[in-house]
Amino acid sequence: MTASNTRIALVTGATRGLGLETVRQLASEGLHVLLAGRDHPRAVAAALPFKADGLSVDAIELDVTNADSIRKAAQEVADKYGHLDVLVNNAGVFIDDFSLPPSQQSLRTWRETFDTNLFGVIATTQAFLPLLRAAPAARIVNVSSLLGSLTSHTDPASPIFDFKMPAYDASKSALNAWTVHLAHELRDTAIKVNAVHPGSVKTDMNSQGELDVQTGARTSVEMALLGADGPNGGFHHLGEVLPW
Ligand code: NAP
Repeated sequence: MTASNTRIALVTGATRGLGLETVRQLASEGLHVLLAGRDHPRAVAAALPFKADGLSVDAIELDVTNADSIRKAAQEVADKYGHLDVLVNNAGVFIDDFSLPPSQQSLRTWRETFDTNLFGVIATTQAFLPLLRAAPAARIVNVSSLLGSLTSHTDPASPIFDFKMPAYDASKSALNAWTVHLAHELRDTAIKVNAVHPGSVKTDMNSQGELDVQTGARTSVEMALLGADGPNGGFHHLGEVLPW
């Protein structure tokens, strides 16, 4: 049972990496957090240590590429809570072939990347939007990447100038565009929508990452807990605004 004034958050792709840590930090802030994973037993197992630590965390099954799974998850949240205060669209894949130049990445790679990193976010957000509208002041956090920044990709001085993984990069550029469009649509509501760059964080996705997950999850958590005077429709990293 959660108290009627407890905020409810849902984090997608939370079975490991940044999503798992985002769950921990949001639950530590007193929210009831739904740890969403595409494999229910793994989500349940991931939630157990948090529960043992006294944090308010429950597992929920949600595959962002499966319409039926998204619909069932939204129905479960509707039935149990009737609203959702925070949606962190964290699930993502990075499957470009490092040995190939941009022109030779397979269409299969492009499609699978966009299915998760863009269409999965849009489908999940569409399904949960009625529940987010039912909350007093919901927050939507889209976990993007500096690799989605076209300004940085075209700046020879940028650290990512020579790092071109087109399917992943373009999926995050498109996610940024979706963020701007949804934030504009919702600008006269209490809902805020922002994109974040976690940093280069050491996870299964990025073995070369420089930051730990505790630091990497901080921007998602900051955007999830924004006050009424916080930004809407921006691209953020650890207190800085990034160029699109
Ligand atoms: P990770 O360790 O590879 O974790 C990715 C998570 O996404 C896993 O929990 C995975 O679930 C989940 N996932 C993948 N496809 C899914 C689907 N169809 N439905 C539901 N969940 C799915 O990656 P990470 O580094 O934590 O990345 C988290 C987010 O941060 C991603 O959006 C990534 O693009 C972004 N990001 C990461 C970095 C970095 O340096 N690490 C930098 C910039 C942005 P399974 O366990 O079931 O596979």
